[in-house]
Amino acid sequence: MSESDVECEGCGAPVGAGLHACPYCQRAYRATASSPSVDCPVCGADNDTSRTTCAACGMSLLVCCVFCEQSSSRASVRCTRCGESFAGAEERKKTRDEEARREQMIELAKKGAQVAQSALSDPRTRSLVGGILGKLLDDD
Ligand SMILES: [Zn+2]
Ligand SMILES: [Zn+2]
Ligand SMILES: [Zn+2]
Repeated sequence: MSESDVECEGCGAPVGAGLHACPYCQRAYRATASSPSVDCPVCGADNDTSRTTCAACGMSLLVCCVFCEQSSSRASVRCTRCGESFAGAEERKKTRDEEARREQMIELAKKGAQVAQSALSDPRTRSLVGGILGKLLDDD
């Protein structure tokens, strides 16, 4: 009777359910070696992609999307909800936020200019502003 399915071929440790390789000797299990796996970020164990936590240490194997906050398996290349790829996501998010902020500033500046222009086209405002400016200049 063969025990190769329940014991690591390398060190004889029990085969961990949901793992693709032995957490003790790092030897890949024969039965699952060819199927896709995901590495635990903490202990490096080779986990089945269907797992949400590491079978060896219990660490979460999910990554949180910085764009929509959806959790996807570390094995995924992109977010399962919004489709943003995880590679360089933080950087991309920062750049996008900065762009959005810049656009907002431009919009605000445009609006401010419009308000100032329409205010100055009113003769009463113009004389008021002129008076204030005149006083400021007098004080100088
Ligand atoms: Zn082993
Ligand atoms: Zn782990
Ligand atoms: Zn997302």
